[in-house]
Amino acid sequence: MKADVKPILVIGGGIAGMTAAVEAAEVGYRVILVEKEAYLGGRVVRMNRYFPKMCPPTCGFEINVRRIKQNPRITIHTMATVEEITGEAGDFKAKILKKPRYVTGEYAIDESMTEKLTSERADDFNYGMNQTKALYSPHDMAYPPAYVLDKEALSETDTSTITKTCPDGALDLNMTEEKINIKVGAIIVATGWQPYDVARLDNLGGGQFPNVITNVMMERLAAKGGPTGGEIVRPSDGKKVENIAFVQCAGSRDENHLPYCSAVCCMASLKQARYIREQNENAKVTIFYIDIRTIGSLEKFYYDMLEDQNVSLIKGKVAQINQEPESNDLILDVEDTLSRENLHQKFDMVVLATGMVPNTADVKIPFELNYDDYGFIDGATDIDGIYAAGCAKHPCDVSRVTKDSTAAALKAIQCLNRGE
Ligand code: SF4
Repeated sequence: MKADVKPILVIGGGIAGMTAAVEAAEVGYRVILVEKEAYLGGRVVRMNRYFPKMCPPTCGFEINVRRIKQNPRITIHTMATVEEITGEAGDFKAKILKKPRYVTGEYAIDESMTEKLTSERADDFNYGMNQTKALYSPHDMAYPPAYVLDKEALSETDTSTITKTCPDGALDLNMTEEKINIKVGAIIVATGWQPYDVARLDNLGGGQFPNVITNVMMERLAAKGGPTGGEIVRPSDGKKVENIAFVQCAGSRDENHLPYCSAVCCMASLKQARYIREQNENAKVTIFYIDIRTIGSLEKFYYDMLEDQNVSLIKGKVAQINQEPESNDLILDVEDTLSRENLHQKFDMVVLATGMVPNTADVKIPFELNYDDYGFIDGATDIDGIYAAGCAKHPCDVSRVTKDSTAAALKAIQCLNRGE
């Protein structure tokens, strides 16, 4: 490797970006990792458990964080976005815009300081299901382990309180956006995904009924660090869930929404059915599906769930969900396509298995790249020097993301060494 070889820019600090960064750095390359959130880990760190082993994602996350901490070749910019890219393979210039955190230094704040505040904000880590103080740690295992101040949410009284309470130099309310110019030799785009907007699924009560939640919200409800401490209860009244429905392909495989299969939501619902059954031996689970897609060895997880007498699978696309006004129970209308029976069934909670939308559907990379009709970066037509990884290219699960990201790191390294 040449001594003056340029670094690799990795856009996105989720599991794809973290993997690409550590793989490239551990063979000696410098990496600049840019993440728009205040912490690394992306969607994966917000999950309760992985399928099929049902282990918490924090294990893999911790290992990656340790690898990052031990590697001086990785520079991290959180709360940052890439605003401009110019140049060509081996010689790119990029402009990074870094939002102010208003908190300086790691471990500068502790919980006792936030307890004195009254101003709150919606906790986006928990998909808005609870509030945090305006001065907050994004989550228990956040890396970098630094607090963030939501200045917009802060009252004047609280501004004065934290200015007096925080140690000298811990806060800087005059902090402004920072612009950073960098030169890199190759770029990995690992911008990840977002859940489909359920407000568009008005026939399914998306965003209208409190007890209709999404699969990503269920991950947080089941998580110890979630809004209920891991107890799966109804948002409307905090009652333990006894009878729950999962609606598959909620917005996926539908010409009016996302025409493609989102690849992971069948397994996600089967896994979440297990969360429910582990918490309540009497709870009943019904999964309404078009097809169950559990690829490769994941098929065994599906067959194991079929053994559970309290889990039913009904082949049928849910047409409508209505809410009973008094009870907030939910009535599902669906045709069972095997028995041809029209069903009208009541549940106390519903989970919409919403699909994956690439973040690049909304916000494009500031460089001429090829995208498919849905906003995924077209991996088959990689621009020389810029390589997409993971869910920026197609819907996929974590194990596929990590392999794909390692491959992207290799391509970036080959680009840097071309001509040697
Ligand atoms: Fe539908 Fe399952 Fe594909 Fe998700 S993985 S879109 S629920 S078939």
